[in-house]
Amino acid sequence: MPTKVLVTGAGGFIGHHLVTFLKERGYWVRGVDLKHPEFSPTDADEFEILDLRRWDACLQATRGVDEVYALAAEMGGMGYISSHHAYILYSNLLINLHTLEAARINGAQRYFYTSSACVYPEYLQTSADVTPLKEDDVYPAQPQDAYGWEKLITERLNIHYREDYGIETRIVRFHNIFGPLGTWEGGREKAPAALCRKIAVAKLTGNPEVEIWGDGEQTRSFCYIDDCTLGIHKLMRSDYPHPLNLGQDRMVTINELADIIAEIAGIEIVKKHVPGPQGVRGRNSDNTRLREVLGWAPEISLEEGLERTYAWIEDQVRQKLGMA
Ligand code: NAD
Repeated sequence: MPTKVLVTGAGGFIGHHLVTFLKERGYWVRGVDLKHPEFSPTDADEFEILDLRRWDACLQATRGVDEVYALAAEMGGMGYISSHHAYILYSNLLINLHTLEAARINGAQRYFYTSSACVYPEYLQTSADVTPLKEDDVYPAQPQDAYGWEKLITERLNIHYREDYGIETRIVRFHNIFGPLGTWEGGREKAPAALCRKIAVAKLTGNPEVEIWGDGEQTRSFCYIDDCTLGIHKLMRSDYPHPLNLGQDRMVTINELADIIAEIAGIEIVKKHVPGPQGVRGRNSDNTRLREVLGWAPEISLEEGLERTYAWIEDQVRQKLGMA
């Protein structure tokens, strides 16, 4: 009998890739989301449209599964996160409280929660030349946005459920995951997808101007989706119960990110710096513990990941512009 798993948020970017990854490894998979995946059909054995803010929906979603990967969340890039605090906090807390409790009641043995680098305190991320963030840096707590506070309290929830009820919870802190089949327009897209879109538009229309929020000197690390799904699975199968970073530890500025993408696209761009939400000034992942715990760290280079992502987004933009 294959292990039966539930992936919530299976209509979203990481959840959709994770379903494919788990199916390739022989799991029976139920996907749940508010919507079907946008860009290609799911590989899940079953896919249910449910609103996981609702308790009855969570009971239905978690019935008869051995393990849960909890990815459902209201989420987006800085533009979205910094302007929907109340909605994000309300929705994600309901999703997380109900999904974990329903999984426990229905007898799931393992539960994987997707937290974020957004839990780290703002006061450690004020310079572009930031010291990479270690897992224990999270306290004293001061996440920048409601999104980070929600992730932090749900980390605690998962820790207490393991201690008090014995359900084996695993907690990951993603650092900027990117790749094909992710949101690339509409306001929820994150920096790599937004820049790939803008540069594809520049290439296809011949207007080299590309808007960048702020001075572009803010720094981040970016992790390709295939490393992300592999890392999720390794952590779920491990016996490590504490929050763990999962990301790349090569930090680049947003200006450098744009330059790499422009080179992949084969065009010269003119950067136009405009006001816009930028998040913290600098952020990078310290992968010391990741290497210790999993004996592994993300391996796909930023350039390789961006090549695959740019090719897919350029294709999307071509179709949108009627040039396919
Ligand atoms: P995504 O927005 O593509 O996927 C999230 C999915 O959750 C969406 O398909 C959405 O419809 C679904 N959802 C939202 N509300 C729901 C509800 N009430 N009921 C059912 N489904 C609902 O985001 P993603 O990038 O795939 O992120 C997956 C998880 O990883 C999220 O928890 C996110 O916070 C976390 N995360 C992602 C990143 C990243 O860089 N992508 C970084 C840190 C943390």
